[in-house]
Amino acid sequence: MTDPELRDQIRQTFPAVRFDGRVTSCDCAECTDIERELRHRRWDEISVAYLDFTCTPTLFTPGGFQAFLPAYMLRGLDDLSEDSVVAEFTLYILCPPVPEEDDDGNLLSRDVKYLLERVSLMSPAQTQAIRAFLTFVQENACDGEKRFGRFITPGSNISGADSTAP
Ligand SMILES: [Zn+2]
Repeated sequence: MTDPELRDQIRQTFPAVRFDGRVTSCDCAECTDIERELRHRRWDEISVAYLDFTCTPTLFTPGGFQAFLPAYMLRGLDDLSEDSVVAEFTLYILCPPVPEEDDDGNLLSRDVKYLLERVSLMSPAQTQAIRAFLTFVQENACDGEKRFGRFITPGSNISGADSTAP
């Protein structure tokens, strides 16, 4: 898959519609700022500067995560160098640690639960687009296989999730 094909797939599967729900769920300064910045916005309206500033939709609610993830994936594709924090952090959140790499069972189950809560909102086509993003980053990022290969393990996270999309 080429970069333009992947971008098209992301844009087609995540329609740019206004998101009116809660973007974040806590009242800390950081979450309040995100809420104020992104409430009632569409993912294609977020500035590159704000995407780079926040790096990843980690703090977002499941609905906010689904609504704005495409902006982070597309921004991540702009820079796949070793300094690519958006691609890197967005990838980490989509690939919680596999069991044998994690020393803390609580942390693991929290990360997996976090991801499942978000992925359960996604359509099969959206899950497919996320998998395509993960594969693309692993194959095309600077040292992608070395940096990300161990995170993208079929069966342990979304990259191995079943999908009914063709
Ligand atoms: Zn917070």
